[in-house]
Amino acid sequence: MPSKLLDALLLAMPLSPTLESWRQHLLSHLNYPVQGAQSLFIGDPVLVIVSFQLDRAEVLLPAVEWRHHDMQTTKPSSQGVVDEHSGSLEQLLALVEESIALRQKSFHECSHCGQRYPPEELGSLMGEPICRNCLKGRRVLF
Ligand SMILES: [Zn+2]
Repeated sequence: MPSKLLDALLLAMPLSPTLESWRQHLLSHLNYPVQGAQSLFIGDPVLVIVSFQLDRAEVLLPAVEWRHHDMQTTKPSSQGVVDEHSGSLEQLLALVEESIALRQKSFHECSHCGQRYPPEELGSLMGEPICRNCLKGRRVLF
């Protein structure tokens, strides 16, 4: 299900004060750009997703595909859930940091420009990883 649709549906149900305070903390205290509402997409490119549900927050790693300029998230994998009653904001932040570190490990260097990119933004040219921007200049499709 497209995440925007899911967000629209879920936003009809207000979050509990605890979850809303966690959400606000993530929105204002992370050193990454954050997009989204009920689901927060952290980082650009997206490093980690935090999905707020009725009484818990779930941390997910994205599997992102780019179609033109629209980001599509496919099959994110869950890294864990923090319950608002048994868990804490500290636990959530730790899980987010852990997941970001894991995600960054999956990044590879473009053999052409040397920047690091997530796997979904890299293709290969003669067996070497190459990013979408560099490929664009070469008019190579992948
Ligand atoms: Zn490149």
